[in-house]
Amino acid sequence: MTLNLYNTLNGKKEPFEPIGNVVRIYSCGQTIYEDMHVGNAKTYSAWDILIRYLRWKGYEVFHVMNITDVGHLTDDADQGEDKIEKSAREKKLEPMELVTRQVIKFYNEMDRLNMCGANVYPRATGHMVEMIEAVEDIMENGYAYEVNGTVYFDVPKFAEDHGYPMLGGRTIEDLEVGAGGRVGERELKEKRSPLDFALWINAPPEHLMRWTSPWGEGYPGWHLECSVMGNKYLGETFDIHAGGVDHIFPHHPNERAQNIAMNDLDEEPVKYWLHSAFITVDGEKMSKSKGNYYTVEDLLEEYDPMVIRTFFAGLHYRSQSDFSEKALKEAEKNLKTMENAIRLAKESEGGSGEELKESIKDVKNGFEDAMDEDLNTSLALSKILNFARAINRNLDDRPEILLLAVDTLKELAGVLGIRLERSKTIIQGDEYIDLLVDIREELRTKKEFDLADKIRDELASRGIVVEDTADGTKWYQTG
Ligand code: AMP
Ligand code: ZN
Repeated sequence: MTLNLYNTLNGKKEPFEPIGNVVRIYSCGQTIYEDMHVGNAKTYSAWDILIRYLRWKGYEVFHVMNITDVGHLTDDADQGEDKIEKSAREKKLEPMELVTRQVIKFYNEMDRLNMCGANVYPRATGHMVEMIEAVEDIMENGYAYEVNGTVYFDVPKFAEDHGYPMLGGRTIEDLEVGAGGRVGERELKEKRSPLDFALWINAPPEHLMRWTSPWGEGYPGWHLECSVMGNKYLGETFDIHAGGVDHIFPHHPNERAQNIAMNDLDEEPVKYWLHSAFITVDGEKMSKSKGNYYTVEDLLEEYDPMVIRTFFAGLHYRSQSDFSEKALKEAEKNLKTMENAIRLAKESEGGSGEELKESIKDVKNGFEDAMDEDLNTSLALSKILNFARAINRNLDDRPEILLLAVDTLKELAGVLGIRLERSKTIIQGDEYIDLLVDIREELRTKKEFDLADKIRDELASRGIVVEDTADGTKWYQTG
């Protein structure tokens, strides 16, 4: 069965055929000036699922995710301040001190969210030599020019020679007209065309992050780092480049143009360009700069990380989705359905039934069909949930079939990044937790469910799961 992926490069769903033996993937990572928010995490979850799925299908995958620690300005049109520098100043930290803190936090949260992680997390500031060389190569090949210590990429010239796709149905002429909407000072003064973008930016005296270059002291443009680091770790051509839909323009067409220009390529540098839709809040993009965001850290205070992954798995990566408590509660219910099926199957002594035998085959096929159709995770998840319900209905199946059913459920949910069985450490005799669990029991008998749920949620945020079973309430610590 072949995986079909929607390729933004040509606007078509195409069968996935890797270039070589190892699938090479680059995904645009975090601009590390603030905490990861739910929108970022949803996009990372989409690529995590893609990678897990490719591995499940037998491919070897090598994944690079950059960490942007310099060059991303507050305005995409090469205006404004460097986001890292601005945030560091506000927090009264050295820029690299802020980066260090944020990177540690980011890895930790990615880990808690059960993201399988990248093979390499390169940082822009660690690749200055390569970036300067790339700018020189692009200039040598005739696609960049320097003005007052800033080097610009010549978009119209490049577009004429190599095309400039991924404009969402627009043409470069539309953009030339539309670009007048917000022409910055620097554009008016220095750029030959408002479409041109900075490869290397001259650093004004107050700019802290600066490196010596052939054009004076400066720092790299944001688009450049992804081209350079992708090239360094994945080669001149690779299989998949992924990012959020905000990268469809200008980040990704600019990256593509740089890749072609610096290596003088005749072929496409990236075979498949994938874009994940936004998580919104009341219909508006959740974003750090708008301030309408929920951090992963906040969410992890309240929700089990696997609830969050179940929520993400329920969203198709190309469908925009609103973030709401209701959706998280639904995910919580779905996670319980899967976990309960496992628990009940394990507790069951089984019987002589064989009903699940067919269901095991069906769910695997149905899951693969759904995922092959441009990673339809929401359909794949609903198949898994139906399978979990089938387990609940057939607890009198033969024990070995029940075991296989449990393994299948764990395996498929695992491909969606949902770890169903966690190590449980039973802590005997923790009197405070016993007391809280008893109080919760009492509240439940008095039908004071709100307060009882509050205790359960508070315990959950500390890694203690309270479970109501036929033999009374049990609790355990997850790890
Ligand atoms: P940033 O840190 O803003 O550079 O974003 C890191 C990654 O998260 C990029 O791939 C963005 O496209 C993606 N992203 C940012 N905001 C959202 C959002 N609200 N929903 C989904 N993905 C997002
Ligand atoms: Zn990028």
